[in-house]
Amino acid sequence: MADPFGFMKYTRIDNPMRPIYQRVKDFEESEDTLSDEERRKQAARCMNCGVPHCHSGFFYGGGRAVGGCPNDNLIPEWNDLIYRSEDKRAFERLTLTNYMPDFTGHVCPAPCEISCNEALHNKGITIRNNERFIIDQGFKYGWVEASGRPTKRNDIEVAVVGSGPAGLAAAWRLNQLGYRVTVFERDDRPGGLVMYGIPNMKLPKEDVARRIAVMEKVGIKFQVNTTVGVDVTADELKQRFARVILAIGARQARDLQAPGRDLNGVYQAVDFLTKATKAVIAEGTAANQKLAGKKVVVIGGGDTGNDCIATAVRLGAADVRQLEITPAAPTERPDNNPWPEWPRIRKSGYGQAEAQELFGGVLTQYETTAVGFKGAAGQLQTLVTSKVDHFKPVAGTEQEVPADLVLLAMGFTGADTSVFDAFGVHEVYDDYRTDNDQVYVAGDARRGPSLVIWGIREGRKAAEAVNQSLQALATVQAE
Ligand SMILES: Cc1cc2nc3c(=O)[nH]c(=O)nc-3n(C[C@H](O)[C@H](O)[C@H](O)COP(=O)(O)OP(=O)(O)OC[C@H]3O[C@@H](n4cnc5c(N)ncnc54)[C@H](O)[C@@H]3O)c2cc1C
Ligand code: SF4
Repeated sequence: MADPFGFMKYTRIDNPMRPIYQRVKDFEESEDTLSDEERRKQAARCMNCGVPHCHSGFFYGGGRAVGGCPNDNLIPEWNDLIYRSEDKRAFERLTLTNYMPDFTGHVCPAPCEISCNEALHNKGITIRNNERFIIDQGFKYGWVEASGRPTKRNDIEVAVVGSGPAGLAAAWRLNQLGYRVTVFERDDRPGGLVMYGIPNMKLPKEDVARRIAVMEKVGIKFQVNTTVGVDVTADELKQRFARVILAIGARQARDLQAPGRDLNGVYQAVDFLTKATKAVIAEGTAANQKLAGKKVVVIGGGDTGNDCIATAVRLGAADVRQLEITPAAPTERPDNNPWPEWPRIRKSGYGQAEAQELFGGVLTQYETTAVGFKGAAGQLQTLVTSKVDHFKPVAGTEQEVPADLVLLAMGFTGADTSVFDAFGVHEVYDDYRTDNDQVYVAGDARRGPSLVIWGIREGRKAAEAVNQSLQALATVQAE
């Protein structure tokens, strides 16, 4: 156990965020790290309590809430090892379950910290930040590469379609187990939404590139700019590969059908975020004035909306506002949402905090939607908003708001089912198998829009299921 009195001796210190007026001047990462010495004190705050709610993902209230790590990360064990300066062993414990802490260490909302026993009266211990420390040590000392190499290689080929967290985790595990893995990706770079979706200031793209580079080094092949179903057919993959894992994400974006939707200036959030990240990669991380003088409205109050706000701020927008169709959540936990459940309370993300500081006034209008877009010569000029009652616009509450850019961040409806059809998949089971014995499904494509850590879990579990189905063949080949 780490210091049994650690949580009483040391106060919680989170990795600090750079001050707003400094960080909005660039797309560099917003979060700083603590010294190694301070990190070990933070790890010492983990008291290895008898019932660590943090390390098992539990569904509460008939599935309406989750508490704890969805990936069952062995948190108290690796916290203890950080405290003892046994970083390599901490790395080994952490990566038993989480193959990509370099992603979650930056972006996980950390339901584990919420369900930490110390969070009953306080803020819980720092877990996400500790995880990031471990993986940074792992890359620094070469442990990541060593841990990715298989002990024995067989000649069985497995294809993974999609290179988001789910596809990457599946590829990593299968490669460790000795399979020859090829990842097919339709974008020009691997990474899925961690590459083109989550912005650079939250997850630097050099960290994604570092992960892909180590995967290539240990033998995983990537075929980018390749849309499965277009550039290579499902039948070709089924002929060449013993198994195929579809990890294509849930990328069908919810749209807003209202008059004027086709005007220039109304875009889907992920298209906007992708373009912004491509510009950062090509032109560097300095903030710029691409949206100088522009009024931006983001429709949708979730993580994606928050990332759009932060990106628009760094592109020099003159004003940014947000519409959210649901009522404002309470500021305190309601009685029917107790610890250790995820708290369904109002939160302000990093982008919202920045826009609030820069522009003042009411940033988010709740129970409000858009009912029309107006413009001239094909260009958006005005957004027509309306109050809603039970998600339906209320007649007579319309208002016209000047807007040059409207970003639709209203969530995703699911996976592109044409890919499933092409593979002859009609049913996807809970254990990642499908009604086609050769084909498995993992990640957002299986469970719907979710979190990076769920993607990692799904990829890991799908790889284990594929391994089990091929084990007889793999054992013969490895001998
Ligand atoms: C803007 C935004 C911000 C987010 N922020 C966070 C956050 O802070 N924390 C967090 O935990 N989660 C966050 N999420 C959610 C998280 O990114 C996803 O849950 C996660 O990436 C899902 O992983 P995945 O591998 O299942 O799918 P994806 O990451 O969507 O990857 C699927 C991949 O499949 C590829 N593909 C699709 N079809 C084909 C085809 N036919 N052929 C070849 N390739 C194909 C796609 O190009 C893509 O690269 C965010 C999501 C968005 C949109
Ligand atoms: S992956 Fe997320 S939920 Fe799991 S231990 Fe890390 S920060 Fe916590």
